[in-house]
Amino acid sequence: MHRFFVPHLYNEEMYIEGVDARHISKVLRMQPGAKLQIVSDDGVSAVAEITAIDSERVSVRCLEKLAESHEPRVQLVLAQGLAKGEKMDFIIQKAVEMGAYSVIPVAMEHSVVRLDGAKAAKKVERWQKIAESAAKQSKRDIIPEVQAVQSMSEMLANCTCTTKIIAYECEDRLSLKAALRAAEAAGGISQLLLIIGPEGGISESELDEARQAGAVPVSLGRRILRAETAGLVAMSAIFYETGDLGD
Ligand code: SAH
Repeated sequence: MHRFFVPHLYNEEMYIEGVDARHISKVLRMQPGAKLQIVSDDGVSAVAEITAIDSERVSVRCLEKLAESHEPRVQLVLAQGLAKGEKMDFIIQKAVEMGAYSVIPVAMEHSVVRLDGAKAAKKVERWQKIAESAAKQSKRDIIPEVQAVQSMSEMLANCTCTTKIIAYECEDRLSLKAALRAAEAAGGISQLLLIIGPEGGISESELDEARQAGAVPVSLGRRILRAETAGLVAMSAIFYETGDLGD
């Protein structure tokens, strides 16, 4: 069943407008009586039936609230060093599918791409759209936010996550698994920041800053993964460890 995020508080009668209304009427060609899923602004998901439809507005009546959540237990924030070309599109789409709570594009010292104010804002807008369609497709209960492009220091200063991990290709002592188990033993993981470098890697001064902010450097194994692979590998291992890839 198709899922749509409706930017209003939950109500039995709701309506969908804009791009989604056009999609439902023109592309999916749904008719009154057809069913879809809605997720309201206050996070309620429900099965709804179309009561009236045109290309501008789709009115629905909610039939049944859905109790089950599709969200992971751990809120994972992916801080990804800016990578080149289409790689960020791919990373954001996959991170949202896997269950990331939000994504922060980080302009790191070794990032080849440089985004100034206006260009950065445009990119973030595009990435937010990618996040929204990935959230719909993967049946998330939220649309993960793609935050503004930030430097490592800004990102660390704004971060409220209680557990912080930085994947560092030169780390050879502490594994991701050991770091996660230590964090679980020390009081559990509820919000986790995962920092991944760009193609050029993480600089020593960025590593120091992250360490000082409480981030633990971890190894993802003996092979060097590409920037667009490392986050996905780390996220799947994290969600596996925290029991979010099914029992
Ligand atoms: N330019 C670097 C590789 C960067 S890989 C080099 O050639 O040495 C991009 C990012 O992925 C890294 O900054 C790190 O965050 C992560 N990464 C890749 N492989 C890793 C590994 N084996 N252990 C930990 N982190 C890794």
